[in-house]
Amino acid sequence: MSLTRNLKVIGEDKKESFYCDLCDYPLVEKKDFEMSNSYDCCHRCYLEFAESRKEAWKNGWRPKKSVLNSYISIRRKLYKQKTNKEKK
Ligand SMILES: [Zn+2]
Repeated sequence: MSLTRNLKVIGEDKKESFYCDLCDYPLVEKKDFEMSNSYDCCHRCYLEFAESRKEAWKNGWRPKKSVLNSYISIRRKLYKQKTNKEKK
């Protein structure tokens, strides 16, 4: 029998982010937080940019500002359409 106790350190230094580093959208779903923890971006950005180039992503690769901006503006439009069409 072991009497060794595992003391858990509470309040780790890890900063919790609530917004995507890339598109600045708030993290909503659990997946967004998971992706933010591992890839510094939300789930959508992960699918759009990181998934296909995980190695480069981990090495610091990020999409160009111009690419990012058009991606964000498309997202914004889609987001608006969605909220306008919301029936509930
Ligand atoms: Zn994002």
